[in-house]
Amino acid sequence: MPAADRVINVNVPPDMARNPPTNCRGIALMLSTLMRNATSAGIRTRAVGVTAGIVASAALMSGAGMATGDSSVTAGSGDVTAEETFTSRWATEHSEFTREQADRSYEAAQEEAAEAKRAEEAAEKKAAEKRAAEKKKSSWVAPIEDGYSLTATYGNSGDRWASSHSGQDFAVPTGTPVQAVHGGTVVKAGGNGGGDGPAYGNAVVIEHPDGTYSQYAHLDQVKVSPGESVKTGDRIALSGNTGNSSGPHLHFEIRTAPDFGTSVDPMAHLRGQGVEV
Ligand SMILES: [Zn+2]
Repeated sequence: MPAADRVINVNVPPDMARNPPTNCRGIALMLSTLMRNATSAGIRTRAVGVTAGIVASAALMSGAGMATGDSSVTAGSGDVTAEETFTSRWATEHSEFTREQADRSYEAAQEEAAEAKRAEEAAEKKAAEKRAAEKKKSSWVAPIEDGYSLTATYGNSGDRWASSHSGQDFAVPTGTPVQAVHGGTVVKAGGNGGGDGPAYGNAVVIEHPDGTYSQYAHLDQVKVSPGESVKTGDRIALSGNTGNSSGPHLHFEIRTAPDFGTSVDPMAHLRGQGVEV
């Protein structure tokens, strides 16, 4: 053991001074911090390492507290002077701490903190994925996934329509999958426009939770039935050329009620929901 001939000043961090450690890990962390501070101040010697043990031992023996604040610790003598003292509770509960033990505990605490951080990050990632999945579930899509040409638009007038065109036409080959633009409940499905009249050929109407209805017409095959629940993107039909149609295409409407005559601009509605069409 080195001679008790030097005094080492150690600065105890204010938060540690205010809240003295009361458990094994806390004490180890404090000792390790004190030694690291001494190292950074350039005054670390073998005596410093020994001092940590002595401080703990001395406190154990005397019942006096650990030196805190800007205080002095004299190596070798076993004397501890302090302007403030920690509670002696920890000293009576624990035996000596060596520098190695302190460092090991410090590293264990660091590892525990890193593990907690990793767990927190994993939980945040999972929550983000759940939000994305929920957003996707509530999102809207185009009635044809891709490969279509937009032909007759909403509001067009022509000899095929009694007034103006009540929907948007997507030109696609017969047999192209048609998907629900949003989740909801099928309210009409089948021939005669699902009840809206022969001009629509085979058709489907879906009621959505926001109070709108989507309609799909001139279908070759209908794959759903009234009362059925559908999710965004579910395949509900194959496109065709049935009813009053001049060529294979999907006629698509957005309505404010189930029946013909309540249509609004379907493209404006889809784009308003963030759909690129
Ligand atoms: Zn049309």
